[in-house]
Amino acid sequence: MCTSPESERSYDVVIGAGLLEQAGAIIADVCPDHRYGIISDTRVAEHYGEALSAALSDAGLESALFKFPAGEWNKTREVWSELTDGLLRAGFGRDSAVIALGGGVVGDLAGFVAATYMRGVPVVQVPTTLLAMLDSSVGGKSGVDTPAGKNLVGAFHQPSLVLVDPSLLATLSRPQFVAGLAEAYKHGAIKDVAYFEWLGGGLERILARETEALTALVARSVEIKAEVVGRDERESGYRRILNFGHTVAHAQETVSGYGCLHGEAVAAGMVLEAAIGEAIGVTRAGTAGRLSEVLTGAGLPVELEEGLEADRFMKALALDKKREGGRSRFTLIAEIGKVAGSAAEGWTHEVSEETVRAVLFR
Ligand code: NAD
Repeated sequence: MCTSPESERSYDVVIGAGLLEQAGAIIADVCPDHRYGIISDTRVAEHYGEALSAALSDAGLESALFKFPAGEWNKTREVWSELTDGLLRAGFGRDSAVIALGGGVVGDLAGFVAATYMRGVPVVQVPTTLLAMLDSSVGGKSGVDTPAGKNLVGAFHQPSLVLVDPSLLATLSRPQFVAGLAEAYKHGAIKDVAYFEWLGGGLERILARETEALTALVARSVEIKAEVVGRDERESGYRRILNFGHTVAHAQETVSGYGCLHGEAVAAGMVLEAAIGEAIGVTRAGTAGRLSEVLTGAGLPVELEEGLEADRFMKALALDKKREGGRSRFTLIAEIGKVAGSAAEGWTHEVSEETVRAVLFR
């Protein structure tokens, strides 16, 4: 059985085109278990379910596929319950492991099933969207949405292995692909200006989904995310730097009823939070402009959706998790490639409602 997630937190992230075919041998080596429950959504399962099952079988591993309908609205306790009951009915025991085959929705849901099944079994993440490859599959956050809000019930459960095959992105829709890119730009914006510029310079190859460019992109983003998470697994401080762009993005998603993709909201959120940073003198002048230029070039939105009502938006912002002592707090950057702040300030900055309103709804 794999080492328990409680006692061993380091794990491999293996990246390479064509890795899905070799998944059986890799998983048998890193996460040897009795049986594997592959959890996937219907769309991803149609593309890659059989290939993964065959790869496991080739390596002599026994598996069964459990599917749920694709879509964020299925990341619920009800679907968690159906999947868990499915594993129980099929007789999966403590000596089993879960394999999450899909985007962030599958990763979060299957991770939560693994975290809770028989008090926790190992999970292997096999991400299939760009967002999941470079962001959500790494870091160990799992969970489901509730009527009161997104991701409000969940657990930290580190994967035993993350297996990334960038060639699986060939079937992903263009909007989903571009939305995932927003998180890569965020990684550059908070920690690595050279990476940020490389993303802009290599955009054509990235959008053409050239294997070499995608592999390099996922590898650098995962490195940045892993470094941040490694310093603060449970988001008590440094991990908050990953929230750059997300305070505004979450408020926009709430008010618009998730009318746009998460990455699209994050792109606009980064530009607007840079503008907020400039307004309070934390962010170097011109940063919002540069972000806007690069993100527009990638086909991402850089403004709030039209028609968002200011009062409703400010109310949603007030509910954000980072709001402390009655004031909104933002993760800000000093300039592209460098987050602003310190551990003493919790890597966030207090900004008055008047300033936020003035910048966002001028
Ligand atoms: P998603 O999982 O819903 O996938 C988007 C769509 O693409 C789905 O319809 C899916 O079926 C389809 N799809 C996936 N891979 C495909 C492929 N290779 N080919 C064709 N179609 C494919 O969305 P997402 O953007 O990957 O993930 C969003 C979720 O991730 C949210 O629930 C968010 O809360 C979560 N998230 C979690 C973390 C974390 O740290 N755990 C971080 C960021 C986001």
